Amino acid sequence: MHRILTMLAIGASLFAGIAAPAEAVPDISLARLDCGTPQAPTAINERFSDTYAYGDLKIQFVFSCYLIKHGDDYMLWDTGHAMTAPNVAPKVSLVDYLAKIDVKPDQIKYVGISHYHADHTGQIASFPKATLLIGAKEWDAISSPKPPVGANFKPFESWIKAESKVEPQSLDKDVFGDGTVIMLRTPGHTPGHSSLLVKLQQMGPIIITGDAAHFRENFESDGVPSFQL
Ligand SMILES: [Zn+2]
Repeated sequence: MHRILTMLAIGASLFAGIAAPAEAVPDISLARLDCGTPQAPTAINERFSDTYAYGDLKIQFVFSCYLIKHGDDYMLWDTGHAMTAPNVAPKVSLVDYLAKIDVKPDQIKYVGISHYHADHTGQIASFPKATLLIGAKEWDAISSPKPPVGANFKPFESWIKAESKVEPQSLDKDVFGDGTVIMLRTPGHTPGHSSLLVKLQQMGPIIITGDAAHFRENFESDGVPSFQL
């Protein structure tokens, strides 16, 4: 409906012969970057269903990072495994991916983190100039004198020391203030887990769910992994 109204508005302004900036919606793009490469499909029955719903099913896992371009601004969502992670280290680092499109690490305005696990936070130290957007409870855990088991706090040193900027979010966050990219609170996998809603002009809304739902079967069966809170 919104799209129809926008098209009507554009049509009306053309008809009137004026270049009215009716609603300045910036170009938005979203790209998935491979951020970890498991060697082989993983058996999921025991770990990913508390009712053993998946039998012998094996799934080829992927670990993902996302690059959002909003107008001239860049945002990363999750930073994947570290390049040193055993068995699953990415083949190409985020910095090298970005170099392929002539984007320097310092051009990343925001790094959003879904949650504190090592497979989502491994390369964040490459982006100390970026403002960190993260759920408040995740930040509390990472910056605690005694971080909980599983909180991969080490790569956040620059933010913990306040050499880099962090904006912990206790509510949903409209990242660019125009409703196109929104951090959503989706606690459960960890206390401060967030998902990211990106409204793409061609595809419509996309929600990047992090580990709130791990894969399609998991989502469709309302399956709850045995390790979820
Ligand atoms: Zn996780």
